[in-house]
Amino acid sequence: MPAQWRLTAELSYSYVASAIADSPTLRLNEEAQLLAERGEPVIHLGIGEPKNKAPIAAILSSASRLGTGDIKYSPTDGIPSLKKAIVRYTEEYYDKVVAPENVIVSSGAKQSIYNILFALLNPRDEVIVPAPYWVSYPEIVKMVYGNPVMVTPEDGGLHPRMEDIKEAVSSYTKAIIVNSPNNPSGLVFSERFIQEVVEFCESKGIYLIMDDIYHRLTFDNKKAVPAYRFIHGEIEDSKVIVVNGVSKLYGMTGFRIGWAIAPRKLVEIMTNIQAQTTSCASVVLQAAAEGALTGVQSVVENLRMTIENNRNIMMQELGTIAGLKVTKPDGAFYCFPDFSAYNKDSVQLSSFLLKKALVVTVPGREFGMEGRLRLSYAGSVKDITEGVARIRWAIDPESPNEIYIGDRKMVRDWL
Ligand code: PMP
Repeated sequence: MPAQWRLTAELSYSYVASAIADSPTLRLNEEAQLLAERGEPVIHLGIGEPKNKAPIAAILSSASRLGTGDIKYSPTDGIPSLKKAIVRYTEEYYDKVVAPENVIVSSGAKQSIYNILFALLNPRDEVIVPAPYWVSYPEIVKMVYGNPVMVTPEDGGLHPRMEDIKEAVSSYTKAIIVNSPNNPSGLVFSERFIQEVVEFCESKGIYLIMDDIYHRLTFDNKKAVPAYRFIHGEIEDSKVIVVNGVSKLYGMTGFRIGWAIAPRKLVEIMTNIQAQTTSCASVVLQAAAEGALTGVQSVVENLRMTIENNRNIMMQELGTIAGLKVTKPDGAFYCFPDFSAYNKDSVQLSSFLLKKALVVTVPGREFGMEGRLRLSYAGSVKDITEGVARIRWAIDPESPNEIYIGDRKMVRDWL
């Protein structure tokens, strides 16, 4: 039994449920919400969703479905016309022809990842999770009785390295999860790394779960290279599984539609799992996703350009804080600066910044890397410039010791 389960064995809840991490971020968010409700001018640099409205094509498509009044179960693996739209999307953006039988629609990419891991893992199987990682991966692995094996780049950087991953592989390794563009670092992983990890997984019979939820949100003409480019045979014989959805690219987080593309047999198993949990994703929301995928795609490009501009402003502003080490992100809407020159304890620093500067950030510890904070640039330009100015005031002794927060003049008396 893994150590973290044994610790909680005396509780009346299951080992697995008790092992799910209690998130300091949730507590910080609740605190921020309370402050905002009291009228405090809180700036949220913790957000994980773009500000844009849902595409009109998505709204009209779901409204039209609602208008029929015919709102019933759909097939468990998704409405055929949405699956067809996903097949076309995969051909266009991945240059890969897949069959509808390779596609399963779920209530968000998060459910897709849960279904994949539930389908693949036996108790004690291991899943390699390169750090920094999206907070949910290790928790979902634990929820299906697996063991997450977190791998931090030995060179102290943010880009995963094949040699570190190979060292962590054991006879229990069932899968590796790769997320590029990455949450929280914003890095787009190199073509060489993607090729190496695909070839390694295919040769060792290890599943490669590509979480592509940000795949078209990239900057500076960089592109996220599809893993499919490096598979040699057919998708049926491949170990590559692709996860995607409408949450981030189309700003449709609340619609809760994602999907997985995998060999048919795996899709069948995932369909059996989903049949006994949610039955299917809501048909109204599936219709919205279909609208987004088949409507004008300039909405994604517009969002991408706004976010790239925000990234540039964020980099410029962070450059004013002397002790920060920042790796310029190539995509998604996060950056992950190293604040360890100011405070090595990211939870403490994040909570300090909320209290003193009314700025919400996410502690690096949640993503498997201490000393860093995740800052989001998905919000407004004003939030970015003011948020970073407040962080600088709170931690950097070189900055002026007075600042206006809302209409209050604040004087720094702790540095
Ligand atoms: N993967 C990553 C890397 C994410 O950041 C998120 C959202 N925070 C998701 C998956 C979840 O996407 P969805 O809303 O489709 O469940």
